[in-house]
Amino acid sequence: MATDQTVIHTEDDRVFYDMSDQSPCTGCGACCRHFRVSFYQGELDSFPGGFVPAEMAVPVTPFLVCMSGTEQGGRCVALQLDNRCAIYDRRPTPCREFAVYMEDGSLNPRCLQLRAQFGIGQPEPPLKAA
Ligand code: SF4
Ligand code: SF4
Repeated sequence: MATDQTVIHTEDDRVFYDMSDQSPCTGCGACCRHFRVSFYQGELDSFPGGFVPAEMAVPVTPFLVCMSGTEQGGRCVALQLDNRCAIYDRRPTPCREFAVYMEDGSLNPRCLQLRAQFGIGQPEPPLKAA
């Protein structure tokens, strides 16, 4: 079965999601234009083992940073004009933890709210998740 969402269980018991090019996320980016995307500063590539480009983040607290542009819940600096992430393989954990699909394959209701808010239509069924 073709899948649009891959579920990844991390060693520290978190669940990450990867989206394929066929997923509803392609060209959407509504969540990347709405939330403050904050995360532990240790994820920045300026720290050992970090991976998020440090120049794309700003401090929030002594330990937290957020993606530039999202400080007040605006457009993330990494979101390209085609509404795809420029640093997909290096995106921070909040971006990996926000699932587009629920376990039954339906869209996350929060996604639907955001898509509606930005005038993006609902994807056609059937929806598939891994
Ligand atoms: S709002 Fe939903 S569909 Fe749009 S990019 Fe975010 S997770 Fe994907
Ligand atoms: S880093 Fe990428 S996935 Fe995360 S909010 Fe920014 S554009 Fe979206």
